[in-house]
Amino acid sequence: MEGIRKNGSSARAKRGFFFRPAGLPELHAHLGSSISPQTYWHIAHTEGYKLPKREYHEFVDHLILDPGRKMTLKEYLDKIYHPILDRLSSGAMALEKGIYDSLSGAYRSNNITLLELRGNPMKHNHDGEVDLDHAIMAMLRGMEKALLEYPRLRAGIIFCLDRQFTHEKNRIIVDKAIKYHRRGVIGIDFSNYNPHTFHFRDYVSLVEKARKNGLKITSHSGETDDTNDMWECIDSLKPDRIGHGIKAVHDKKLMKKIAELGIVLEICPLSNLMTRALKDNRELKHVLQTFYHNGIKFCINTDWPEMIRDAHLSKQYEYLLKNKIMTEAQLEKTVTWAFEATFINLPNKNGNLYL
Ligand SMILES: [Zn+2]
Repeated sequence: MEGIRKNGSSARAKRGFFFRPAGLPELHAHLGSSISPQTYWHIAHTEGYKLPKREYHEFVDHLILDPGRKMTLKEYLDKIYHPILDRLSSGAMALEKGIYDSLSGAYRSNNITLLELRGNPMKHNHDGEVDLDHAIMAMLRGMEKALLEYPRLRAGIIFCLDRQFTHEKNRIIVDKAIKYHRRGVIGIDFSNYNPHTFHFRDYVSLVEKARKNGLKITSHSGETDDTNDMWECIDSLKPDRIGHGIKAVHDKKLMKKIAELGIVLEICPLSNLMTRALKDNRELKHVLQTFYHNGIKFCINTDWPEMIRDAHLSKQYEYLLKNKIMTEAQLEKTVTWAFEATFINLPNKNGNLYL
């Protein structure tokens, strides 16, 4: 991965589609899985954390998924994401460095000029040992440093609520998102899984409060669960976007509703293949082509750019083209839809916060 990051402008010219002058938009990337293994290695050894592997390459292999090492979403969240990545990316130092490295690396390596990074600040404060405002300010400092260094980059942070959290804990996250909206917190998301006690209908007024205060709404839904979850999400929250939403392909009425409401789906192709949410390229093609021909707007994202081998954003487009899953003209459309659907709303649309 480091090799990709060293490419200069001459290499950029040869890369055509992916290195277009306007750059690429990324609307669905998680903080914990956007930090590279080498940054995690650095953080762990700076802080003195014990790691599951003592040798660097074994550590990388332990974290990363690839076609030879797939895991279901639940397995990965429970075995790797929450116990290892969340822990290593906790605390002020780790958050500032992690966000700075992931934003600046995305611009340098993939010409990503619009990046919405998402994370739950309560998953990065060592279970309350670190003051939540300090954790959030560290996230924002990391982002601002990257924005100052790379003026073509626009970035914002989405706060993830957690389906396994109590309503009260999620309310605190929304209040913090509102408090830091002017500093670059642009929206809220619902993540994680909880088929038992979580209901979108319990969040109608909280989401309305977020919206009234300028935040945009997205939610993970229709990735591994059934379409009932998507129906409830749409009927209760009227989200601006939905993360994944691939299960809608099985429900014509739902597709019609998504298209009518103009809800944009954040598609994450390689993530869905690695977690077996999609069986193979054939199913991926069926989903994307069905959405495209049913008037559903969607965009291409990484979800976990550093935790899946060869899954940086430009590689995802390459993959879709090489495997004839989408045409170049269709991918151009998805790029346009992504730029239109961003939650980043700055007075100067061509620049970042500081221009
Ligand atoms: Zn996601």
